[in-house]
Amino acid sequence: MREVGLDGTGPVHSGWAPPGEILIHSEVLRSRPEVTAVVHAHPPAVVAASVAGLPWLPLVGSYDIPAARLAHEGIPVWHRSALVRRRDLAEQMVTCLGARPVVVLRGHGLVAVGEGDPAHAVAQAVTRALAVNSLARTMLAVAATGAPLRAIPDEDIAELPDLGPAFNVSAMWRHLAARAEHEGPPVPLRT
Ligand SMILES: [Zn+2]
Repeated sequence: MREVGLDGTGPVHSGWAPPGEILIHSEVLRSRPEVTAVVHAHPPAVVAASVAGLPWLPLVGSYDIPAARLAHEGIPVWHRSALVRRRDLAEQMVTCLGARPVVVLRGHGLVAVGEGDPAHAVAQAVTRALAVNSLARTMLAVAATGAPLRAIPDEDIAELPDLGPAFNVSAMWRHLAARAEHEGPPVPLRT
């Protein structure tokens, strides 16, 4: 992990450079004061589902409640597939994100945000990104059968409680940390 300013400058060590798409992070942070973490990723299932133009619907309910709630409340799709290296492109992406927690970038990936205490915000943004990835994988699996993609009924959405961050974020984060410990590199990463 390396700390840099919103403009990408800072004490970057030799051999390291700020990400080429740092504007994705910095423009969201500039425009959404409550946001303290921004995840940008290129999950293959999200890329494929966005290229296919599949609708981001709450296809499943209690199988993945965070994904269902995200989709029910709306997952915006930014239709540009550009590499976000210019501020005007980042501003377009931020406008598409609006006040939502995630935005899909067609043919590119996704952006997810977290709010509040930074440690919680990172976990929140990561778990939101994973929920979108889970939904994308389900969308592709259903579409592959030839069946239509249909949202579950509102009456079932109404029976999906928000289980809160202790379950949706903290428990998932502990699971991910344990997996990283068991499946990750056997020695600490170089610092
Ligand atoms: Zn990217």
